[in-house]
Amino acid sequence: MSELRDLYQEVILDHNRSPRNFGELADATHDAEGFNPLCGDKLKLYLRIADDTVLEAQFIGSGCAISTASASLLTESIKGKSLAQTKILFHQIHAMLLDKQTDQSESLGKLEVLSGVKEYPTRIKCASLAWHTLVAALEQKTSATTE
Ligand code: ZN
Repeated sequence: MSELRDLYQEVILDHNRSPRNFGELADATHDAEGFNPLCGDKLKLYLRIADDTVLEAQFIGSGCAISTASASLLTESIKGKSLAQTKILFHQIHAMLLDKQTDQSESLGKLEVLSGVKEYPTRIKCASLAWHTLVAALEQKTSATTE
């Protein structure tokens, strides 16, 4: 477990220090805002979707290291994925964070470090915020909250 904890801290710190795909996306086709009132994390996610594929994903916002790193990892991992793959990924992350069993045993790769947040139960919503915001954007809702 301590290896995961080290990796978790390393990845979270790295993505918080230099978030990937940070900034507004001018030609976004989908966007949504997310808010986690427990911690005060706010973010806005932009997607450019064409032919059922996520071509671009960017975000802006301010929040704790975990919420920023999770959003950064999210934008990295969904680019180039089909909408169906993106939704499967959301369900896998959601299940992982909530410790639910899934049929999918596929590796989540780097995203598995997010499971390190389970050692800090109050921060799980910080990690899941970006993913709920992603679903809101895909469903053309304007906002998401972790509550
Ligand atoms: Zn937070």
